[in-house]
Amino acid sequence: MTPSPAPAPGPPDQPSTDPRALDRRLDALARQPFRAKFHLRGRDRATAGLKGPATLRWHAYDLIAKRLLPARPHKDGRQTPYRGHPVFVAQHATATCCRGCLQRWHGIPKGRELTRAEHLYVVDVICRWIAREMTDGTFSGQDPCRADPDHEIS
Ligand SMILES: [Zn+2]
Repeated sequence: MTPSPAPAPGPPDQPSTDPRALDRRLDALARQPFRAKFHLRGRDRATAGLKGPATLRWHAYDLIAKRLLPARPHKDGRQTPYRGHPVFVAQHATATCCRGCLQRWHGIPKGRELTRAEHLYVVDVICRWIAREMTDGTFSGQDPCRADPDHEIS
């Protein structure tokens, strides 16, 4: 996945959302037992370290554009793998994995395209979570492969 020099505007270099507001939201999500299981580890953690924050921001932007932005995303509810990219892990940890979770946890309604502000907000949430993972060095050894009751595993 190469960040393209897109004709459409991409993500800003810096989060457009207040980092303290993001932290409060992430802290609340981390109190959900299902969400708290997710951590960056193994290859996904190594990928995050190798790519660095700016590249990951692009990846998050592109992945969200393809998988969450449409009014009716393909396989909604099952479109986000549990591993294979640090952004995917971050999506499960932050409840930005599908439109149902976005609606329930972030108040972004289903059934219509995300606005640009919402798209950037989701990217900010994901990137903030990854940044927190990469600095606090939590390696809890739990397997994240447990289904949320209202989601199927992809
Ligand atoms: Zn979800």
